[in-house]
Amino acid sequence: MSFWICATCAVEHSEQVEVCAICADERQWVPADGQHWTTLDELAAAGTEVVIEEVEPDLYGVTSKPPAGIGQQSMLVRTSDGNLLWDPIGFVDDAAVRRVRELGGVVGIIASHPHMYGVQVEWSHRLGDVPVYVSEADAEWVARRDPVIETWSGKLTPLPGITVIQPGGHFPGSAIIHWADGADGKGVILSGDTVFANPDRTSVSFMRSYPNRIPLSGAVVDRVARSLDVFDYDRLYNNFGSVIPVDAKAIVRRSADRHAAWVRGDYDHLT
Ligand SMILES: [Zn+2]
Ligand SMILES: [Zn+2]
Repeated sequence: MSFWICATCAVEHSEQVEVCAICADERQWVPADGQHWTTLDELAAAGTEVVIEEVEPDLYGVTSKPPAGIGQQSMLVRTSDGNLLWDPIGFVDDAAVRRVRELGGVVGIIASHPHMYGVQVEWSHRLGDVPVYVSEADAEWVARRDPVIETWSGKLTPLPGITVIQPGGHFPGSAIIHWADGADGKGVILSGDTVFANPDRTSVSFMRSYPNRIPLSGAVVDRVARSLDVFDYDRLYNNFGSVIPVDAKAIVRRSADRHAAWVRGDYDHLT
């Protein structure tokens, strides 16, 4: 079945529409010269390739070169019960499927939020029609409906040792993964951009929109941080290859408190 890929966000669409709804939303953007569509064949003809690299034992980063759309780093988490593909990129080819299969069977695909849907249904079809878990709260943004999609809300345990919850914030259903065995058993959070690992590696940010810089309230940020408090974790990866390598739990708490203090006006004297 043919489908279209938004050239800006790389989210798959079953048909071309006037403008991609995800890009037209206030959290994303449409290029100045308007909407563009592409296809897997076009991207492949332009030399697009999937790059898969180990980021720590049993965790692989999946990107494309050049980046498709937003250009996120997808994550493949390996467990003894099967693997999970997180934040699937907007490109896939036979070589990528072969490499992913070599790393073990994928039992499910899940995106942290609609910006990260990529070509999730296509990845599923090529990996044996595995379930694509879509947050009920954000399901309206799915532009390629398919029987492989299963909606969920609250909490999901797609594999033993992997828990998905929805702190919300960036999108109402914005999700994170807790991977208990990650970081040598100290625990890892895959945060998408629900919680964004900053370049200083010692702080994180919480935003409604990153490209358009729309803030969240202190109360929402506190709720997001508190929802992660139930987990033991030491390391946090966002969806663009940035990592808080150690002490991530304390850093999330401290960053949430800093965010709340700034929006409350505690630091107005510094501005
Ligand atoms: Zn788009
Ligand atoms: Zn986003």
